[in-house]
Amino acid sequence: MANDQIFDIIIIGGGPIGLACAIEAKNAGLSSLVIEKGSFVHSLYNYPANMTFFSTSEKLEIGNIPFVSNNPKPTRNEALEYYRRAVIAYQLNINLFEEVLNVNKEAGLFNVTSVKHIYQSHNIVIATGFYDIPYLLHVKGENLKKVTHYYKDPSFYAFQKVLVVGANNSAVDAALETWRKGATVTMIIRDTTVGRRVKYWVKPDIENRINEGSIKAYFNSTVSEIKDHEVLINTPDGTISIPNDFVIAATGYQPNISFLQQLGIAIEDTANKTPFYTAETHESNIVGIYLAGVICGGMDTHSLFIENSREHAALIVKDILKKSLIQ
Ligand code: FAD
Repeated sequence: MANDQIFDIIIIGGGPIGLACAIEAKNAGLSSLVIEKGSFVHSLYNYPANMTFFSTSEKLEIGNIPFVSNNPKPTRNEALEYYRRAVIAYQLNINLFEEVLNVNKEAGLFNVTSVKHIYQSHNIVIATGFYDIPYLLHVKGENLKKVTHYYKDPSFYAFQKVLVVGANNSAVDAALETWRKGATVTMIIRDTTVGRRVKYWVKPDIENRINEGSIKAYFNSTVSEIKDHEVLINTPDGTISIPNDFVIAATGYQPNISFLQQLGIAIEDTANKTPFYTAETHESNIVGIYLAGVICGGMDTHSLFIENSREHAALIVKDILKKSLIQ
């Protein structure tokens, strides 16, 4: 690829929705480049190794390529392979391990500065997702090596004392999986119950394990401090200490809103920090910069997911085509 090529669209972020946008561009005869700062479909790559999607496979499809899975709900590995095959089928132009640092507009063209090059494009799609910045516990000891915000594989925790912080899907999956590999599992839950969004077919499993005492859960509780071999917990009955080998902080993730602000995207001054875009076109307040995927929800990272944001790609490319016909 020549570095002096001017693209019709540069897509920042190579998640499922960034790829959907590239496919839509290809179908419309537009040139595009996807620039991804991590490995291929980096967010999905970082999901737990045994993770199963809550969506059925056809709802994760892009570019009308059938997603064949042997299970009602596909696994992370199947999805990684599916999206890889989609890139090959459409021969998408994708640069991996290349972070985009900035975008600015000059004489009607966007200059996209990555860690490697400056590219030029007529339009930009920002599809940067939400999985990069974990919500921190902000407690002493959080930086110890035994603490992770990216739980991967339960076998690692076999026969260890594991503390899982959080009460939603990721926390519940980590608690159940590590317990089934022989870990002694304690959950720290801020509220009075496990999260209401926990998959309906998993909820009875975790509730039964807690009720029978196989997994110890402290409700209305928070972590106070993490030490090498113990954890201090604030409970309604006071601060207690429990022995501990590893902490899995399943406290969620937030999108990089400051990256949007740096590019000049208008952000709502509310808790959700929703970026401005027009619903019909997904164009932001900057003409030629579009928003796609979960980033459109701002800090509300649960309202949009692959299933219901794949459609952003068609809206964006339709608008870009419409504008090019008018010019
Ligand atoms: P992402 O997939 O997050 O992709 C964004 C990409 O942008 C990342 O790869 C990131 O590395 C890259 N990036 C960020 N900043 C830059 C930069 N400056 N330069 C270059 N690249 C950058 N959704 C469903 O529909 N069904 C499910 O069953 C489902 N299950 C899930 C299970 C788990 C455990 C989790 C965590 C999420 C699940 N989701 C599910 C949600 C879904 O995975 C996300 O909504 C989806 O990944 C969003 O796609 P995206 O392309 O918008 O963002």
